[in-house]
Amino acid sequence: MAQVVVLGAGIAGHTAALYLSKLLKKKDGHKVIVVSPRPTYNWIPSNIWVGTGKMDRKKVVYKLAPIYKKVGVDFRQAFARNIFPEGSADSVRPYVEIESTLPGHEGEIEKVEYDFLVNATGPKLNFAATPGLGPSEGNTTSVCSDLHAVDAWEKLQKIIERAKKGEKLRVISGTGHGTCTCEGAAFEYTFNMDHELREAGVRDNVEVVYMTNEAELGDLGVGGMVFKQDGYETTSRVWTESLFRERDIHALTGCAPTKVEEGKVTYEDLEGDTHELSFDFAMLLPPFKGQDLKAFDKNGEDITSKVFNPAGFMKVDADYSGKPYEEWAPEDWPRTYQNQDYKNMFAAGIAFAPPHQISRPRKNKNGTVIAPAPPRTGMPSGVIARSVAMSIADLVKNPNAKLHTAAMTEISATCVASTGNSLFDGTAAAMVMDPIIPNPSLHKNKGHRHPTRTRGEIGLFGHWEKLLIHYAFVYKAKALPGWSLIPE
Ligand SMILES: Cc1cc2nc3c(=O)[nH]c(=O)nc-3n(C[C@H](O)[C@H](O)[C@H](O)COP(=O)(O)OP(=O)(O)OC[C@H]3O[C@@H](n4cnc5c(N)ncnc54)[C@H](O)[C@@H]3O)c2cc1C
Repeated sequence: MAQVVVLGAGIAGHTAALYLSKLLKKKDGHKVIVVSPRPTYNWIPSNIWVGTGKMDRKKVVYKLAPIYKKVGVDFRQAFARNIFPEGSADSVRPYVEIESTLPGHEGEIEKVEYDFLVNATGPKLNFAATPGLGPSEGNTTSVCSDLHAVDAWEKLQKIIERAKKGEKLRVISGTGHGTCTCEGAAFEYTFNMDHELREAGVRDNVEVVYMTNEAELGDLGVGGMVFKQDGYETTSRVWTESLFRERDIHALTGCAPTKVEEGKVTYEDLEGDTHELSFDFAMLLPPFKGQDLKAFDKNGEDITSKVFNPAGFMKVDADYSGKPYEEWAPEDWPRTYQNQDYKNMFAAGIAFAPPHQISRPRKNKNGTVIAPAPPRTGMPSGVIARSVAMSIADLVKNPNAKLHTAAMTEISATCVASTGNSLFDGTAAAMVMDPIIPNPSLHKNKGHRHPTRTRGEIGLFGHWEKLLIHYAFVYKAKALPGWSLIPE
């Protein structure tokens, strides 16, 4: 009989919880508990469509409690705050302290004991890293959450109305700090915004700018890709530049925004020069850090720095020795996502600490770091979560069981940047990277990925793929019959 606690109910946490509930049955005395502060699940990839008015928020947000009731998972609407992996003076078992967000119980603290813990708390959206960034206290909008996406669409509609009256305007979409990740999401929002402006017949009045921390287009935080297309070798840079040219989208690369005022962003470039760009609308993604979780040993000593890296992401089975970028090896990346000090603790999705950059980090002459952080997109987040759930289920049955693996140097990811959401007039730029992290041990060719499975396609099919992904993954997230047959 085991008690497994999953922190977070996003793509990683929810996937882990569903698999754990399938593998460790309640009737056998096992208990799976999910702790997450919001009552809902947000299918984040489709926030792009909410942010351009193509999808209602209701289609990307679902109540968690009925889903968990159906699969026999206990749900606590709360923030995880402190982890005691060795227990404490009052408790021999490890536990996590949680703080309720349930209406009427806000702020109540509960101690939840565990035999196994999965940290899947995702990213903290660090808008504070750039003064003036963000929808609540700043001057920009975002699509990182469903509510941010609603805000983005409200603001974009005003732009369309003004442009219809003949005003000449500028909109920006991109990354709001030199160390952001998720360039794929910014890229997708840019294309969707361009599509909406064209549909509204106002594109001639609106200049569209893509502002990115990538040193070159197509880097996507993974150092770009080399692939074969129509018999020719090409790169994600050439491919992406041509997409931008076709759509007349002006791209600014190597940017580190340092301040956003009303209608004006100040940014440094790779040379260290400072520029200002005025805007009428800006969707700029924030950099990510880990959630503010703390850890304590059995004597109450703070061991947060032992369990988490300085950015707040949980350390797992990776090489955190801080090697120079030039010396990194595929083996440095985690395989099992098990914490090495506390073997009953795992991290999945964005919550695990990556050992180093994938894309080459750069610093300009002012010392400003301009370095896309390693992406941990939805597909690997789900695959890693399933692997962690299977490892835990095996460990419950046999403490010496071999752990399952899902190394990002071996698994692939698909990134589909679609525009519009109608069946017939949408298009999508679909990219497959196999593996996500270049692996010279597996692939000796240029780019160190599989030369044909790694690819880029543009067209209606990719768009159908994105629609299919939306409906299939929402079906899976709702744990409807046969959900586990749908791959992550
Ligand atoms: C706009 C956008 C579009 C994207 N499009 C794609 C795409 O097309 N394809 C793709 O593969 N990826 C895409 N991604 C990336 C994908 O959404 C992320 O990789 C994925 O959501 C990461 O999953 P996660 O579970 O690690 O984090 P999240 O999904 O962010 O989940 C984290 C969970 O933890 C909870 N939590 C936070 N703090 C605590 C706490 N203290 N205690 C307990 N719970 C806590 C949160 O409420 C949430 O439930 C996109 C991202 C964005 C922002």
